[in-house]
Amino acid sequence: MAKHILIFGPPGAGKGTFSSRIMEIVPEFKHISTGDIFRENLKNETLLGKKAKEYMEAGELVPDSLTNELVKDKLSKIEKQSWILDGYPRNMNQVEFLDENADVDSFLLLDVPRDIIKKRILGRFSCLECGEIYNKYTLQPKKQIGENKWICDQCGAEIEFQQRSDDSEETLEKRLDVYEKNAKPIIEHYRKKGKLKKVDAQNTLELTEDEIKDILEV
Ligand code: AMP
Repeated sequence: MAKHILIFGPPGAGKGTFSSRIMEIVPEFKHISTGDIFRENLKNETLLGKKAKEYMEAGELVPDSLTNELVKDKLSKIEKQSWILDGYPRNMNQVEFLDENADVDSFLLLDVPRDIIKKRILGRFSCLECGEIYNKYTLQPKKQIGENKWICDQCGAEIEFQQRSDDSEETLEKRLDVYEKNAKPIIEHYRKKGKLKKVDAQNTLELTEDEIKDILEV
């Protein structure tokens, strides 16, 4: 049976890293990250990217009119498969839109104390070739070749520490504010539906295969 999982948590909770871990263990899962889609569009200077740019750079949410249709379109292509949706829904309008357009099995809340978030976010970077995610402070690639340079563990490409353009300290504060303002009713919505599961996001990298399968109920 196809499983539909939402991954929710503040910026820096490790939603992307946790999703990658899930897919290593259960490769049938398709991963959709609205943040990744927007970043890709920004990089390729598409129309969507141009529309999303000012919001992303300010640490604000891209308008629902753009985001909802994008998610609907992506989900319609993988309707019958298992998927993980990461970074969506982010407000109650998106929650309602998703309720109308998809069945959700679990809402995984990645919990992280606020003081750890900053270190995680300000240190993170990814491989431009394969997208593998690293952290300058907590999760470096194994082979270092310069002060801020490494070889990607996954694909062997040379990578340099480069902060995401929306990961500056100022934008981060704004994004955390946006998260905190919106999170409560969303979490409450899925709690009432009996879908809420809390995951201690400080040690998601140490979770065993069985523990992850348990969380996913697969
Ligand atoms: P993320 O990587 O999930 O933190 O997303 C990076 C940025 O993309 C956010 O700060 C927003 O500007 C935008 N974004 C991602 N997901 C959404 C969403 N569900 N609704 C609106 N904007 C989003």
